[in-house]
Amino acid sequence: VPLLWRMKRSSSRVIEVCMKPSSTTREEDLRSAVERMLENRSLSYRDGPIPVPSDDPFLLENIKRIQICDSDEWEQNHKVLLFWQVKPVVHVYQLSEEGPGEELSGDGVLASFNEWMLPAKEFDGLWESLVYETGLKQRLLRYAASALLFTERGVDPCLYHSFTWPPGTGKTSLCKALAQKLSIRFKSRFSQCQLVEVNAHSLFSKWFSESGKLVAKLFQKIQEMVEEESSLVFVLIDEVESLAAARKAALSGSEPSDSIRVVNALLTQMDRLKSWPNVIILTTSNITTAIDIAFVDRADIKAYVGPPAVQARYEILRSCVQELVRTRVVTPPQVAQLLGETMGASVSPEVGGSADPISKLLLQVAEECKGLSGRSLRKLPFLAHAALTSPYCDIIKFLHALEETARREI
Ligand code: ADP
Repeated sequence: VPLLWRMKRSSSRVIEVCMKPSSTTREEDLRSAVERMLENRSLSYRDGPIPVPSDDPFLLENIKRIQICDSDEWEQNHKVLLFWQVKPVVHVYQLSEEGPGEELSGDGVLASFNEWMLPAKEFDGLWESLVYETGLKQRLLRYAASALLFTERGVDPCLYHSFTWPPGTGKTSLCKALAQKLSIRFKSRFSQCQLVEVNAHSLFSKWFSESGKLVAKLFQKIQEMVEEESSLVFVLIDEVESLAAARKAALSGSEPSDSIRVVNALLTQMDRLKSWPNVIILTTSNITTAIDIAFVDRADIKAYVGPPAVQARYEILRSCVQELVRTRVVTPPQVAQLLGETMGASVSPEVGGSADPISKLLLQVAEECKGLSGRSLRKLPFLAHAALTSPYCDIIKFLHALEETARREI
C-alpha cells in the first residue's frame, strides 16, 4: 500500500491560491497552511474553486479563493481529483490593483502602450473564461513554460506568436490570460512580472518620424525592465499586421523610406530582446496571409485560433446563461444545477438524445451559432435579454429568445 500510495502521488496537480487584497501574510506561510489543509482532506474535488474551510480562521482571513487548475490529465481523470492520489503544487499570489499605467504618444492623446503589474486584478478569471478546443490553452501554457526553462538553461531564446482570424476570437484576451497564468506559476522564480501592451496600430498611425521616437522610447523602457533579473516581462504587440503592412508598403516603394527604418528598428529591437532570458513577446494578428515573413520567421510558436467549435460555443453560452441564473435574471433554481454541469457531464453532441431538455435546447442554439466569434457569442445573451418583454423570465423562454437572436445575428 505505501508503494502504491507513493506511485500515485507522483502525479501533481496545480492549486492556485489567490490572497485577499488586505492580506499582509507571507506567501510561504499561506502555502504551507494550504498544503496542510489539503493533506488533511480526503475529499475529491472537481476542476474549479474549492471552498475556503470555514473552520480555519487563518485561511479565511487571508484567502480570497482556492482554485484547482485545468490540465490535460484532468480530462482523463474524469475531472475528479482525489487528494490522496496527487501531490498538490500550490501557487500563492496576490492580485495587483494598480491598474494600467498608460504611456501617451507624442501629442499626448493616443496611448501607444499600456503597462500592467501581473497578476493583475483586471485579468482575474480571464483564462478560465476563454473556451477553445480541448488542450489548446494547456498546450500554450506548456510551450511557454518550456520556453522559459530553455532560456534559463541557455537554449536559444523564445519569441512567441499567436495569430488568428477573424477578430473577436479572443486572441488578445488569450495573450493577457497566458501572461497572467505564467506570472502566477513562475512566482517562485520571478518575483515581479510586468506586461507591456503595445498597440501596433497606434504606434504606426502617426507620422513615421514620431513613430521612430515612440519605438525608441518603448524599447528603452522594456530594456530597463528586463535588466532586473528577478522580473519577467511580457511584451504584447497587438495587431502586428499593421507593422507588416507598413514594411511591405515601404518595400514596394509606396511609403516614405522613413517607415522602413522604423519597422526595421522595431525588428532589430525585438531581436535584441531575445538575448534576455526573462522576456516573452506575444503578438496577435487578425489576418494570416498579410503577416510579413520577417515576423512569422521570428516566432517560435504560432497558433491559429479560429471561431469556436460547437463544444466551445456551448460552453461560452452556458457560462453566460449560468451567470444570468446566478444573478436571478433567469429562473428557475433547479436549472442552475443542470447548467452547473459541464457539457461533458450533462450533454454531449454525440449523445444529445439522453440530455435534459434545457441542455438540449442550449445545444441547439450552440449548433445554430456556427461561424460566430467568441465575442459575438458573449454578446448574444444580452441581445436576447434586451428583446424580452419582461426583465425576468424562465430559462426555457430565455433560451428560445436566445435562439431567435442567434438566427437574427447570423
Ligand atoms: P480578439 O483579440 O481576437 O479580437 P478579444 O481578445 O478582444 O478578441 O476578445 C473579445 C471578447 O470575446 C473577450 O471579451 C473574450 O472574453 C470573448 N471571447 C472571444 N473568444 C472567446 C472564447 N473562445 N471563449 C470565451 N470568450 C471568448
